[in-house]
Amino acid sequence: MSAARVLVAARDADPSAFARSEAQLVEAARIHSMQDLQRVAAFWREAADRARSLEGDDKLRERRRLHASVSFLGMVRVDGDLDPETGETLLTALSAVLDAESRSRGKDDNRTPAQRRADALGEICRQWLDLAERPSVAGERPHVTVTVGAEALPSASAASSELDHVGPLDPESARRLACDASVMRVVMAGRSEPLDVGRRTPVVPPAMRRAVIIRDRQCRFPGCDRPHTWCDAHHVVHWADGGPTALPNLVLLCRRHHRLVHQQGGFGLELLEGHPVFKRPDGSLLEDRAPP
Ligand SMILES: [Zn+2]
Ligand SMILES: [Zn+2]
Repeated sequence: MSAARVLVAARDADPSAFARSEAQLVEAARIHSMQDLQRVAAFWREAADRARSLEGDDKLRERRRLHASVSFLGMVRVDGDLDPETGETLLTALSAVLDAESRSRGKDDNRTPAQRRADALGEICRQWLDLAERPSVAGERPHVTVTVGAEALPSASAASSELDHVGPLDPESARRLACDASVMRVVMAGRSEPLDVGRRTPVVPPAMRRAVIIRDRQCRFPGCDRPHTWCDAHHVVHWADGGPTALPNLVLLCRRHHRLVHQQGGFGLELLEGHPVFKRPDGSLLEDRAPP
């Protein structure tokens, strides 16, 4: 093979990259032996391929986008295209949560795959918000604004509640979220005149949460072993009904079981001589395997 044919082959492989480095390649053909020139050309080809594939990556990355907007009834519509690296990260995180869920739930999971992915995304976001290393305050809970009339007692059942981004909440969700949230109380004089806007404060202060975590370690629902990072601190007697935010009245429950005990006609949870007692919807007792 002649030096000229090596150059022609290089040009045919990538004409535009060849045009950019023609002078150096011609110089290389002049000074190097045939064997060295072929080695130089091979290196050059590799570098050009790498540059081209990076160009492709950048073009793909340019198309990345994510829309998240509040739609009808406070649902949030998510839609977008992630670049390969971010997409890989998302899929890895989702499948890690799904794996952990299927290990702990086994067959008793009647959610659709799409519902499971939606729940997993929520869990990922919640756990990120709970991270202590996050730039802002640790243990951030959903922000619930409770609006009450000036004449009404500040009971969450009598109040209307909303979340900062998606708006009004149904009473059942309001009670569950307000159970362990950052709550801001707004007292209204009339229908639209705020009389007093309280500070946003976490219902369960961080030190109290740590104490509950140290005692319970994981979800207290019988048979559940979700670690505390998946859990809320549930008030057995809701604070809106006068229940104290104190260790004996708080129980760690994973998001799923928290939902279950707040459901109308669902599982019951009450304090009996200072110990939480779980009851099935039919009233029968579930054994608590709490630490002594
Ligand atoms: Zn609760
Ligand atoms: Zn649980």
